[in-house]
Amino acid sequence: MTTFKELGLNSQILQALTDLGYETPTEIQLKAIPQVLSSKQDLKAFAQTGTGKTAAFSLPILEQIDADSSETQAIILSPTRELAMQIASNITEFSKHLKGVKTLAVYGGASIQDQVRKLNKGVQIIVGTPGRTVDLINRKQLKLSNLKWLILDEADEMLNMGFKDELDKILAVTPKEKQTLLFSATFPKEVESIAKNYLKKPVEISAGEKNKGTDQVSHQYYVVSERNRYAALKRIADVNPDIYSIIFCRTRRETQEVADKLIGDGYNADALHGDLSQAQRDSVMEKFRNKTLQILVATDVAARGLDVTDLTHVINHKLPDQIESYTHRSGRTGRAGKEGISIAIVTSREKGKLRPIERLIGKNFISTPIPTGKEICQNQLLKLIDKVQDIKVNETEINDFLPSIYEKLKDLDREELIKKFVSIEFNTFLTYYQNAPDLNDSEQMRGVDRNSDRGSKRRDDENMTRFFINIGKKDKLNPARLIGLINDQRIAKNIEIGQIEILDTFSFFELDKNYEKETMSAFQGSDVDFEGRNVNVEITTKQRTGQARGGSSRGGDRGPRKRSGDGGKPKSDFSGFGRKRSGAPGSTSKSSFGSDQNPKRRKRI
Ligand code: AMP
Repeated sequence: MTTFKELGLNSQILQALTDLGYETPTEIQLKAIPQVLSSKQDLKAFAQTGTGKTAAFSLPILEQIDADSSETQAIILSPTRELAMQIASNITEFSKHLKGVKTLAVYGGASIQDQVRKLNKGVQIIVGTPGRTVDLINRKQLKLSNLKWLILDEADEMLNMGFKDELDKILAVTPKEKQTLLFSATFPKEVESIAKNYLKKPVEISAGEKNKGTDQVSHQYYVVSERNRYAALKRIADVNPDIYSIIFCRTRRETQEVADKLIGDGYNADALHGDLSQAQRDSVMEKFRNKTLQILVATDVAARGLDVTDLTHVINHKLPDQIESYTHRSGRTGRAGKEGISIAIVTSREKGKLRPIERLIGKNFISTPIPTGKEICQNQLLKLIDKVQDIKVNETEINDFLPSIYEKLKDLDREELIKKFVSIEFNTFLTYYQNAPDLNDSEQMRGVDRNSDRGSKRRDDENMTRFFINIGKKDKLNPARLIGLINDQRIAKNIEIGQIEILDTFSFFELDKNYEKETMSAFQGSDVDFEGRNVNVEITTKQRTGQARGGSSRGGDRGPRKRSGDGGKPKSDFSGFGRKRSGAPGSTSKSSFGSDQNPKRRKRI
């Protein structure tokens, strides 16, 4: 395994990397560092956010910077203030053992005089947003005539944000003899044209496939009618008690509206968009970073520069206008070796937007049913039980009270006691989701192939074959994963899926009778594996359990639902996990989210 030392970095830089806990170089670092150290050739790099690209471009520059000269030798242009600040702070860390190297971030929304004062003291490395950089050049406060390196970071985002003119102006005042490094996660034609105009015979490097999403991210979509979009969002939050997520919206207005509704419904959420003051944005980002906030509702632009590595979910409340933005959004989860889920909530009309994204990311979206009330209650209950198991008992404090408590409860047996304690936390929850309507846009949820626009009549039982499969909840199977597994077998196009019943160690699913043989040979033909288990599928004559149900691709544990007019508006003051409003049952999450740990905010507990 190649080390940072073998890449040719000096001992002061190596020490700083050790201080930061960087042990081995990432893929983009392995490729970029030796290249920039050994050659003056321009560089065009495909790199997603979170791949370690900041160190990839700044370490070889730090290795070569002339600390004895106070001239500006390197400028890094970044799309947002937050990203500029983050890059500058990373470089300051990398150079902390290098004497005389100074780095400064320059960006709008902060005093230009302060920045000028610092510039006048001599700064070798500038990290700037395009607007403020142009401003400083126009005021003749920033001189780039001795520049050796120009880095365009997140070039696609800079162009998305309309900084083309600023980039042209900055590039025009830099010397011809310099090395230009362009980093971008996507390469739409605008970025290619910048690369063509400003890079001289660049070397191309790539960390991961061009424009592709990371392998750690699974992409799911839910089909809802427009009026149920928000209710679906809430269910996604409720079925994932430990959710730590960014919900992306297209406009500032939509962002604020969704955040307001979530806050009003007691979720631990807040908004991040350009209409907020810088101080407000800083405060929201800080709360999200330190996990006091569990859900951040944000525009694409405002969320840039937010360096959070462990998001569990990225939710596209609405898909972005530009499909490249989807890669940026989904790339915010599944980082640092963790798995992540990117969810798109779409109406049947918007489904057509998924195909081009699938082509771009090189992966298919999995059609996923919106969680039922029962699934949500089950997940939340299990979370509560986990919390009971994990809770530390303060023996000394509680001992004094125990005798009178035992005395009061002496007539209750174990089962009754458990039921009652769980109900304290859970009654409002159960009531809220009792008779919760099915939010799936049912016409869209029946086909394994979601692009099928075939007739909308439910398939009757007699048109379906029921299959037994030897995996279940214990193998971490759920309806979405089972649909994914069936999809993976590529049995036939447009095949319909009926009821799914997931049990502990095995499950049942129904597929169109006409494809019985194909299904059997698809599962028998290849060695199908799921979570390390060999999958075995058989045709079964076992009848559906429970009440008669139609052929929706939902869990078999659902009773018949009537469609809701209002998309599941709260009937009670229920508040689930990730919610913080007083008067709510509160969270049983054992995560470190601030609101869950503040008993004062949870009056009913
Ligand atoms: P970046 O893509 O530069 O924003 O980096 C993403 C995250 O990975 C940041 O939190 C970095 O501090 C971290 N990081 C970058 N390179 C390494 C490395 N070689 N080892 C460990 N962490 C790293």
